[in-house]
Amino acid sequence: MELKVNEIFYTLQGEGARAGCPSIFIRLSHCDKTCPFCDTEFESGKILTVGQIYENIQNYPCQWIVWTGGEPTLQLTSQIVQFFKDKGYKQAIETHGGNKVPAGIDYIAVSPKVAEHVLSQNFPDGVQELRYIRHVGQAIPQPKIKAEHYFISPEFNGDIPVYENIAYCIELVKQHPQWRLSVQMHKFLKIR
Ligand code: SF4
Repeated sequence: MELKVNEIFYTLQGEGARAGCPSIFIRLSHCDKTCPFCDTEFESGKILTVGQIYENIQNYPCQWIVWTGGEPTLQLTSQIVQFFKDKGYKQAIETHGGNKVPAGIDYIAVSPKVAEHVLSQNFPDGVQELRYIRHVGQAIPQPKIKAEHYFISPEFNGDIPVYENIAYCIELVKQHPQWRLSVQMHKFLKIR
């Protein structure tokens, strides 16, 4: 079992309901979308076996993995998830929502880049977290799937905060209080 891995790093989760939680990020290479605001170089990478990945992360004092990308569902399998589960890890995934996630994932965070009917097909039982990126002028989302946490996340210009978008999202959330604001805290704190 192997994966093309862009990078592995240990840091704090920077956004959403798990913000502030120490987590081992495993960024997998490749994505099938071309979002204009994408802030990630995800094409480069190195093929690693799951054993090599485990060797890489086993000394971190943390039992949470976050599978991210790129788009991690393009490579991750339920067998690989099981491998890390057997080692005692909890596993979260950050996905655009265009594919089902492998069995065994403990926490699904979807930042949708696909139509709502696609999310309904892929996540009939709902997810832990929905996190929609919004810029000035965009309407409040109308999700068709259930989530434990609903977030609006202001669109940044790469790593640079766009204060017009932040102010707009604050107003959006104030008018729709079932939503919460999530800002990409790691970009302000310059942690990674
Ligand atoms: S889905 Fe995510 S990783 Fe892929 S291009 Fe869009 S923002 Fe970037």
